[in-house]
Amino acid sequence: VKGRGRKKISRVRVAVRLRPFMDKQDERGEGPCVRGLDSQNLEIVNWRNATETLKYHFDVFHGEQTTQKEVFLSSVKPILPYITRGQNASVFAYGPTGAGKTHTMLGNSAQPGVIPRAVGEVFNLVNAQDEDEAWDYSIGMSYLEIYNEKVLDLLSPSSQDLPIREDKDKNILIPGLTHTMISSFSDFERHFVPANLNRTTASTKLNQRSSRSHAVLLIKVVRTQRCLPRRQQTGKLYLVDLAGSEDNRRTGNQGIRLKESGAINLSLFTLSKVVDSLKSGASVRVPYRDSKLTRLLQDSLGGSAHSLMIVNIAPEYEYCFDTVGALNFAAKSKLI
Ligand code: ADP
Ligand code: MG
Repeated sequence: VKGRGRKKISRVRVAVRLRPFMDKQDERGEGPCVRGLDSQNLEIVNWRNATETLKYHFDVFHGEQTTQKEVFLSSVKPILPYITRGQNASVFAYGPTGAGKTHTMLGNSAQPGVIPRAVGEVFNLVNAQDEDEAWDYSIGMSYLEIYNEKVLDLLSPSSQDLPIREDKDKNILIPGLTHTMISSFSDFERHFVPANLNRTTASTKLNQRSSRSHAVLLIKVVRTQRCLPRRQQTGKLYLVDLAGSEDNRRTGNQGIRLKESGAINLSLFTLSKVVDSLKSGASVRVPYRDSKLTRLLQDSLGGSAHSLMIVNIAPEYEYCFDTVGALNFAAKSKLI
């Protein structure tokens, strides 16, 4: 009997990544506020007037020494073969501004992150198919950002807010969104690198390069049977660099920035509710429709899709409040 007596394996995994200590001028000299215990556990130490140490347990804890390659190999690479077999997946980076989301997802040329490694690996998987493989593959990409609950096409920057629709097979579609076919990794870079410059960014008191939007990269692999009936399967991979999760009351946001904060919080708050209801496994309604982000990810987060949330945290005391917030977001259903 299917599944009987077996614990249901959650396809939503949560990994925490702690970046190295960077604030060399930490005047108070307090040292780090986060301490890794082992490959799944960490604790918050000496925080404010906390009378007890806060301990957290996750599927994976990546300590500050963890390299980009290790994050990719242990957390991301294993889900990529599903994409080339017609299943969906999503990887998203969550956490306060400055904690390492963009480093983890994008990285730089010396330390490439999840996005370039994953795209390279998808091409490897497809190119490794041998001659008598029964399928032909094609790979395409879209790149968008969700800013103020508006969907903007980063491959066509003059576009307006795009609608999110669902077809009769429950696939999520964005009519009008640019979808570019790519045949190699350098082809991908040729479109992706300039598109990144189109991202909407604005400074806040916390970080000049603070990003106020969710950046969503879609890699779509379509495979078609060589013989009749030429059946087609589509696998979608979403790679998402989320907006900062910091508490906006502390960043001095006013006016337009405060309005953005509201929109960002709606998407992140809904994301937390969605992840929560998925992880709890209960037959509760999953509130995908409550925000653009979760609506977009609906067919690739939960259900038969494979999802990974990487929670990025920083060790400095100035981040501690937001670190605890991010860990609580991610841990709600994991806390013992
Ligand atoms: P976020 O996107 O969450 O705002 P960033 O990725 O921009 O944060 O990281 C903030 C700073 O910390 C950047 O200068 C980045 O290069 C650096 N950084 C983040 N994570 C790491 C890491 N694991 N190792 C080395 N430097 C890192
Ligand atoms: Mg960033």
